[in-house]
Amino acid sequence: MGKVTGFLEYKREVEDYKPVEERLKNYEEFAVKMAKSRVENQGARCMDCGIPFCHSGCPLGNLIPDFNDKVYNGKWKEAAEILHATNNFPEFTGRLCPAPCEEACVLGINEDPVTIENIEKNIVEEAFKNGWITAKPPKSRTGKKVAVIGSGPAGLAAAQQLNRAGHSVTVYERDAKVGGLLRYGIPDFKMEKHIIDRRVEVMKEEGILFETNAHVGVNVDASVLKKEHDAVVLCGGATVRRGLPIQGADAKGVYQAMDFLKQNNKRVSGENFEEAEISAKGKRVIVIGGGDTGSDCIGTSNRHGAVSVTNFEILSKPTIERPEAQPWPFWPMRLRTSTSHKEGVERVFSISTKAFKKDIDGNLTGLVTCEVEWVKTPGKRPQLREVPNSEKHWDCDMVLLALGFTGSETTLVEQFGLETDMRTNIKAPETNYQTNVNNVFVAGDMRRGQSLIVWAISEGRQAAHHVDKYLMGKSDLPLKGDGDLPRI
Ligand SMILES: Cc1cc2nc3c(=O)[nH]c(=O)nc-3n(C[C@H](O)[C@H](O)[C@H](O)COP(=O)(O)OP(=O)(O)OC[C@H]3O[C@@H](n4cnc5c(N)ncnc54)[C@H](O)[C@@H]3O)c2cc1C
Ligand code: SF4
Repeated sequence: MGKVTGFLEYKREVEDYKPVEERLKNYEEFAVKMAKSRVENQGARCMDCGIPFCHSGCPLGNLIPDFNDKVYNGKWKEAAEILHATNNFPEFTGRLCPAPCEEACVLGINEDPVTIENIEKNIVEEAFKNGWITAKPPKSRTGKKVAVIGSGPAGLAAAQQLNRAGHSVTVYERDAKVGGLLRYGIPDFKMEKHIIDRRVEVMKEEGILFETNAHVGVNVDASVLKKEHDAVVLCGGATVRRGLPIQGADAKGVYQAMDFLKQNNKRVSGENFEEAEISAKGKRVIVIGGGDTGSDCIGTSNRHGAVSVTNFEILSKPTIERPEAQPWPFWPMRLRTSTSHKEGVERVFSISTKAFKKDIDGNLTGLVTCEVEWVKTPGKRPQLREVPNSEKHWDCDMVLLALGFTGSETTLVEQFGLETDMRTNIKAPETNYQTNVNNVFVAGDMRRGQSLIVWAISEGRQAAHHVDKYLMGKSDLPLKGDGDLPRI
């Protein structure tokens, strides 16, 4: 432990953000870098707990007290080695993770938790700045070939781990660029895309091949791919969007959130797109769905120049404090206010949309809602009930549906003959990540359903271990909680 009295001396400090009016002018990240000494003081707040609950809160099992201590002592390079021992891409999680580790931090019981996520981001940025992150190709090759399908965080993590084990890895991605939802879902103001490119360059130098515009099952034959590789790892995500099949859903002006976000990400990075322009400029926008996707739509709409942005959430408004039923160290369902929310939005909870209204030309003019309540009956799941006489009309010109995702697409499932569960996630047990087809494995959202980046990286790493073991009879690739040899 760095400083015994650190948590008593220093208060929690996080990065400042540029003022709203300034950041809304562009799509750049807007966090203001903290001075190194201030980050080191934050590392000093860590109590090096006998049982570090932060570890169990982190799906990667990050060695948090160890890197906090190194940061406090100014040993940034060692901190970077420890961090990379369990996380291939801390630059993604350090920016985008909701930080379950911080909700589990022991200091959080009666104080503000350690700023683990921001420390992580500062470590990895320091490492890139100083050139400590360099290609580490394997010393020898096994002669085994592995195909990874999908280049989101799960696919990238699986590919890097398998390459480290000496296998020849090719990542097949149907989009024009690598990154999955990191590139085409999440807006630049949360993570600029050169952050992905910088890491992918290192991976290419390590010997990983990337085939883009390669849609397996469409322009790449799945059976040929399976035959030509010793193992296949499916990391295609959970991309089937939930719709809202109500009256007027075909109105011009009702869009799926991912169509809006993907196009905007392409526009910001100068990529061509063929679809008609989707713009929130000058519009009264209603975003239906209160999760991460909804929040990204709010930030993007405000940057487009929307006249107003309103956000509907069907669930009731959570409390700011932990609910009693979700005590520390569990992940609590509490009210989260993102940086996009702070940029301007009216948030409405306990509301359900009943119909869209359109004019004679089919253009959206508004929608009709009702209030809802969740009725709890002991032993049963809460039931949604409409509040009588609560109907309301809202004028609007654009609606973005951010209602989540229902599971994985059918193309790969059919082509490989895979079994799925009730939610259309591809079936594979956590014990080996292997599907019902012998040399086909699955990881990330495609296995667990729409989740988090940190889980996708964790799944990619776990799956890589099992693929390596399948190919070689044993594996030195670490599993979660193994404690790997530090390597960047
Ligand atoms: C708008 C939005 C915002 C989010 N924000 C956050 C956040 O802030 N923090 C967080 O932790 N999580 C966030 N998430 C969730 C997170 O992005 C996902 O959980 C994570 O990206 C899943 O990683 P993955 O690798 O499993 O799949 P994905 O990232 O979905 O990648 C799958 C890839 O596979 C490719 N693919 C699919 N089928 C084929 C095929 N047949 N052939 C070739 N390629 C194929 C796809 O094109 C895609 O590139 C967000 C999700 C969305 C939609
Ligand atoms: S739980 Fe919090 S205080 Fe304890 S070791 Fe982890 S980060 Fe440090």
